Amino acid sequence: QAKDMDRNNFQFFSSDLNVKVMERMVLESSLRRALERDEFELFYQAQVDVVKRTIIGFEALLRWHHPELGMISPEKFIPLAEETGLILSIGEWVIRTACRQAKAWQDAGLPPVRMAVNLSGKQFRTKLDQVVASILLETGLGASWLELELTESILMRNAAENQQLLQALSGMGCSLSIDDFGTGYSSLAYLKNFPLGRLKIDRSFVRDIITSPDDRAIAKIIIDMAHTLKMEVTAEGVEDHDQLELLKSYGCREIQGFLFSKPVPAAAAEEFLRKGILF
Ligand code: C2E
Ligand code: MG
Ligand code: MG
Ligand code: MG
Repeated sequence: QAKDMDRNNFQFFSSDLNVKVMERMVLESSLRRALERDEFELFYQAQVDVVKRTIIGFEALLRWHHPELGMISPEKFIPLAEETGLILSIGEWVIRTACRQAKAWQDAGLPPVRMAVNLSGKQFRTKLDQVVASILLETGLGASWLELELTESILMRNAAENQQLLQALSGMGCSLSIDDFGTGYSSLAYLKNFPLGRLKIDRSFVRDIITSPDDRAIAKIIIDMAHTLKMEVTAEGVEDHDQLELLKSYGCREIQGFLFSKPVPAAAAEEFLRKGILF
């Protein structure tokens, strides 16, 4: 009898689903402690003006150094942070750390650059404008150096409420951009109603831009549309020169991708600025 039960228990816990549940519980409890244990770090990826060939900004990308599991990708823990609500405190840490870093570089006399930060939908439902305002005040960073990246789905959900929030953030002097553009379902009419300054072409279109006429057409349409709407446009995920040259020929002025730099720790990003690297 007892033996049977053991066997059943074993089967119960070894089923795929339960391994996933266990994994999730373990990850969740360590995520809860990650902030206080100082396990997060921001990496910075250069955004390059391809005409001047200089860095004009960085995107801050979150990294989690888990004590046992090593570095965990944001693709894996951001969704968990969103489900658990932890994204609010983590997201605030991200904005504060990125602003503090940008200000420190400016104070050190380095060429001022824009700092882009990713936002999750949950952060939108709180008083994000107040959070941002107090962080800017606390760090002393000028609002115009901060760019907030949001996705199409964030924008389209509660469009009416977002309108107010985005107006407030934009009114403070922050820039707003749409990340991964082309993968979601934006109503194009909203693009001109929201105070958005930039579209970031999703890297899935850039990846096959040389070989796929469809992806090429989509990239070109996004660039043309951005310019028509007097918005700026950045291509993400540029890895080689052919992609760069094609995007340049379409009038895309700003590039972010492994061709120039992977996301790197703050010290390495600072070195780029200090050396005034021309890409
Ligand atoms: P994202 O905001 O679209 O960030 C760009 C992602 O593309 C980064 O992945 C970056 O490393 C990668 N990437 C950039 N250039 C290239 C390239 O040339 N080739 C390839 N193969 N990849 C490239 P990462 O850092 O793993 O971040 C993944 C996603 O996680 C981000 O996508 C963003 O949605 C989310 N994320 C990262 N940090 C934060 C954060 O602080 N808050 C929130 N809410 N989300 C974040
Ligand atoms: Mg982004
Ligand atoms: Mg993106
Ligand atoms: Mg993304």
